[in-house]
Amino acid sequence: MMVQDEDLIDFADDVPPPSRRDGEPAARWTLLIVDDDEEVHAATRFVLKDVQLCGRPLRLLHANCAAEAAACLAREPDVAVILLDVVMESSDSGLMLVRHIRDTMQRSEVRIVLRTGQPGYAPELKVIRDYDINDYKTKAELTHTRLITTLTAAVRAYDQIRTIAENRRGLELIVSASADLMEAHALNTFAEGVLTQIAALLHLPGDGIVCAQKGSPLDDRDKVLHVVGAAGRLAPYISHPLEQLGDPEITAVIRDCIARKSHGFGPRHTVLYLHGSHHEAAVFLRTHALLEAGDRQLVTVFASNLSSCFGNIKLVERLNHLAFHDPLTGAGNRVSFLTDLAEAGAGERGSGLVACLLDLDRFTDINSALGHDVGDQLLLAVAARLAEAFPGCALARVHADGFGLIGPAALLTPERVFATLQAPFAAGEQQLAVTARLGRCQIEPGTSGNTLFRRAEMALTQARMSPDRRECDFKPAMEERTRRRLDLIRHLRHDFLANRLAVWYQPQVALVGDGLVGVEALLRWPSDDDFVQPPDVFIPLAEDSGLITAIGEWVLDQACATLHRLQQAGGPALRMAVNVSMPQFRLVDFPAAVARVLAAHGILPSALELEITESILMEEPGVVLDNLKALRESGVHISVDDFGTGYSSLGYLRELPIDTLKIDRSFVVEIDSGRGDLFAEMIVAIARKLGVGTIAEGVESAAQLSRLRELGCDIVQGFLYARPMPVEALEAWIAGRPKDHVRH
Ligand code: C2E
Ligand code: CA
Ligand code: CA
Repeated sequence: MMVQDEDLIDFADDVPPPSRRDGEPAARWTLLIVDDDEEVHAATRFVLKDVQLCGRPLRLLHANCAAEAAACLAREPDVAVILLDVVMESSDSGLMLVRHIRDTMQRSEVRIVLRTGQPGYAPELKVIRDYDINDYKTKAELTHTRLITTLTAAVRAYDQIRTIAENRRGLELIVSASADLMEAHALNTFAEGVLTQIAALLHLPGDGIVCAQKGSPLDDRDKVLHVVGAAGRLAPYISHPLEQLGDPEITAVIRDCIARKSHGFGPRHTVLYLHGSHHEAAVFLRTHALLEAGDRQLVTVFASNLSSCFGNIKLVERLNHLAFHDPLTGAGNRVSFLTDLAEAGAGERGSGLVACLLDLDRFTDINSALGHDVGDQLLLAVAARLAEAFPGCALARVHADGFGLIGPAALLTPERVFATLQAPFAAGEQQLAVTARLGRCQIEPGTSGNTLFRRAEMALTQARMSPDRRECDFKPAMEERTRRRLDLIRHLRHDFLANRLAVWYQPQVALVGDGLVGVEALLRWPSDDDFVQPPDVFIPLAEDSGLITAIGEWVLDQACATLHRLQQAGGPALRMAVNVSMPQFRLVDFPAAVARVLAAHGILPSALELEITESILMEEPGVVLDNLKALRESGVHISVDDFGTGYSSLGYLRELPIDTLKIDRSFVVEIDSGRGDLFAEMIVAIARKLGVGTIAEGVESAAQLSRLRELGCDIVQGFLYARPMPVEALEAWIAGRPKDHVRH
């Protein structure tokens, strides 16, 4: 049988009151008396009637046997002391119960005082120690005062153990809360987490706010305090300035906290000060009384943990901002654009949206002509205008001079985009007119961000290459074309490495005297299946993929080996013409590489003629000029290929160290075709003016030949004499040529 004793009595006591939460009703100590003798229960009840221990009244529970006691403990989580009879049903049932309480029930906090009628039944010292038995008294010893002092010591020990345990739980909470908060990467989720965790820690209603310096983590200059998190009735003020709260008390407390850089504990509030390395914040909590010392300590520890989380959040926000924003324009960057594309592609809503890539024309020129400051300001102005014209669309700067936009197809039409750029842009002192190219692609649901970006890029490339259109929409055929291109590049690389490429040679004949004066080395890509790729197709691929530098060097090596072989055979003195691409010319050590190859084959530099196209000359005059000069100084000849198809200025040409202009085949064709020989004539005249020689290429007819001769062209090359051929065929061709062969 078990009896609850609800009688509460005062008992004067000089022990200081234990910790107690303000506002809660006075707590009581719960004691459990376990004895099979009803008289003991009654006596204890009598002695403890109206007694207070350490300022708290008592609540007595009674059990008559070990099983009853165990059941009672299972129900009661907060039993402070057990007064336990050692001998009950059996001589050791009391000790068995102790073992059960400590081992099975894992109740380590409850204090146990053993009582026994007979001194002889005292348990072993080891048992007392192992089972944390806190006192041992004979029943006779438990007189009124002795019982009270024993119990006072026991409840005080219990209270201390509880406090320590609670603190440890509090610390565990802090640690796990901090870990959770570390996960929060945005200030507002962090703030929300802080409020929830502190409220839980202090058993407070979650009524509070977190304030930090000005919203944007990048904007440290603005010292306006903003609400970054709030709970309860303050929730609507999130992201408003603190002033708008309209609560002078809270405002003052937060200001004071930030100014003093320390926590504040008042009777109606608690305010915590958080600081990262560059930022500070205050957490305001409504409390109903001054926090007691233990809780104050707890939140202080928590706050210092929060400060490091806070610094972390700010850092993460800053990094996030940098990771996803273009530092110049503040618009998104390539990463954010890809993320937005991925999101748009993943959404069901995909259809109806388009991705746009916008590329400013000649931005590099503006940058180098007017300076980077002006270039930057232009980009800023363009970004601002795009953002204004297309609100709600994702805007990002995806290249140095390229922007990306995602939005409804109906809004992002080429007309609207170009209309936006129509008016000139203010950049520094300048008003700059800007033109651009636009590539668009439909966002189809279930398409990855990368794919969408690549498609928009394909469309943009198409728009860039088109002479008459400024915009292009992606079409699936483009993807197919790109795939084929990539296949071809892979195949080319493979065949080059497998040494399957070949160099053929086409003779060049002097018009005066009709003697063979040179050969042009022309690359060939023989193929097992009859599908032979012409150089016009695969050389641009090699150029785009960077393969051309290795291939070009190999061609030069082959050409020099051939020339050496021809020289050994004792034929006429020939010059070897080798075509050079832009990527080769960009290599700083290109002249040195040429010199090495020449030396390796014992060829004089003057026996080599490098053919560069007019467009190369115009593209990057700086690099080209340095390399040209170095080559020319070494004695290598330079000829300008496809002359007349580009747009070199004559003034500029005069500056260039060149030896020959090659009259492009298209002008030679014209000689027969009715349009006449105007261009051919002009080029010969220009060459004369510049003091350089001329070679006409693609000569196929006798009529072309005789006209070129009349014009005073120096050398011709074309099917009329010979097609390009392998070295063995060339040797046979040379051998078969009568020494005094003259054509008319
Ligand atoms: P290119 O430098 O203008 O070469 C002259 C092209 O005209 C050659 O075409 C040649 O076979 C062709 N040709 C010569 N005489 C006649 C003729 O009487 N009639 C016609 N219809 N064509 C004639 P090929 O060999 O197909 O080369 C095309 C282009 O590929 C070359 O134009 C050159 O730009 C490039 N190329 C060829 N080999 C190399 C190389 O080793 N390196 C680099 N970078 N480019 C090369
Ligand atoms: Ca050529
Ligand atoms: Ca040519």
